[in-house]
Amino acid sequence: MSKASSPSTLSIPNEIGGVRMTKQRKEVYRLLLEKKDHPTAHDIFISLQERMPSISLATVYNCLETLVEHEVLQQVNFDREPSRYCANLKEHGHFLDEKTGKIQDVAFKKDVNIKDLFDLPEDTIIENLDITIRGILPNNSTH
Ligand SMILES: [Zn+2]
Repeated sequence: MSKASSPSTLSIPNEIGGVRMTKQRKEVYRLLLEKKDHPTAHDIFISLQERMPSISLATVYNCLETLVEHEVLQQVNFDREPSRYCANLKEHGHFLDEKTGKIQDVAFKKDVNIKDLFDLPEDTIIENLDITIRGILPNNSTH
């Protein structure tokens, strides 16, 4: 029997953030660690079918829901498009390249306090911050 896709070497612990990592959850998580282009549930489903032909779209949705609930993954929403998923849990913004349609993570510069950018009352607690930048990256960008 030949393997269509190369087996991933990335090992995932059996538990992350109190979530038991079932085989399916591991595969979903691993894929998101490998694919940093913020795939949708459907993209993930299509990619995983190579590795796990028995996986269903409903299972992918269930895995994503559980992992987002336990903050193992981040759900990212752009406009009215289907949600996308991201395994980068550090504070970051997203850059949507309007030429390629690619979405990538952009880190905040060191020592920048996001609160300083906005005119917010003191003691405001930011629980969630979505920053999406749209534009066109230079061709020679290493991102
Ligand atoms: Zn991201």
